[in-house]
Amino acid sequence: MEIIPVIPRGYCKGVVRAIEIAKNCAKDYPNQKITVLGMIVHNQHVVDALKQLNIHTIENKKKTRMELLDEINEGVVIFTAHGISEQVKQKAREKGLICVDASCTDVIETQKLVQEKIKAGYTVLYIGKKNHPEAEAVLSISNHVHLITCKEDLNSFSASKLFVTNQTTMSLLEIETLIEAIVDKWPQAEIAREICNATSIRQKAVLQLKDKQIDLLIVVGDPSSNNSTKLKVLGTQSGIQHVLMIETVHDLSEDQIASHKKIAVTSGASTPTILTNQVIETLNHYAQTKEWILPDKSFQIL
Ligand code: SF4
Repeated sequence: MEIIPVIPRGYCKGVVRAIEIAKNCAKDYPNQKITVLGMIVHNQHVVDALKQLNIHTIENKKKTRMELLDEINEGVVIFTAHGISEQVKQKAREKGLICVDASCTDVIETQKLVQEKIKAGYTVLYIGKKNHPEAEAVLSISNHVHLITCKEDLNSFSASKLFVTNQTTMSLLEIETLIEAIVDKWPQAEIAREICNATSIRQKAVLQLKDKQIDLLIVVGDPSSNNSTKLKVLGTQSGIQHVLMIETVHDLSEDQIASHKKIAVTSGASTPTILTNQVIETLNHYAQTKEWILPDKSFQIL
């Protein structure tokens, strides 16, 4: 059995920065209640680790950021790495909250681009995921920004001056299929591909596994993480026969791996390094000794 750690994998700069900002809040505002508006990054283990620092998170997938904000009435509010709308920021200020913005700079760049195009009179088609906070913030910029999740969404409107862009963590293959359909329909459309560099290089590394006869790909990530989920989808699309997504090594059993000869391991941009390392170390130990020994469940993330 051979274990192949995929490079690059794991934390991106936006996630590292967001976690640092949250940790600094705990130092800067020791006497304030600190609440994150949604998951700081899409990984429950990071959220749990912040709780140890007295940084609380309110999350409800059925609620918008604006609705969630109703539940915060004091102290510090942290906006997550996924970006936030001007309307939510304004409402937080009106409530007298101390606002700390951990939005990733790549997300902010895409928001600015959309704002410029709206000012210039374009209709914007935004390829993204429904109810994702990053998409929510971009859609709030104007009624002339339309979410595109599939080809059928292209039937619902018409416009002459079109600008097309996307959520930063989408799949490289998926956006190309949709861009092709858009250009077929509106050849004059202007296109700006905005998948961030971290997402792009992690996805390309998985696509390159195609030539390495991998028979199992393990993606370590939280199910709510868009970039982790897309790594799983791309693994399957690149022809790898078995693709598993797990949150920690404790989701893995000897039965799931014993028959495989070449196992690749990658992780989403919000997955703590220690969780991926535990998977790689456990698999390496098994490959060398045929002993299935899981590590202790307690680990330090921050
Ligand atoms: S995945 Fe990309 S956009 Fe998201 S936080 Fe990381 S660098 Fe920023």
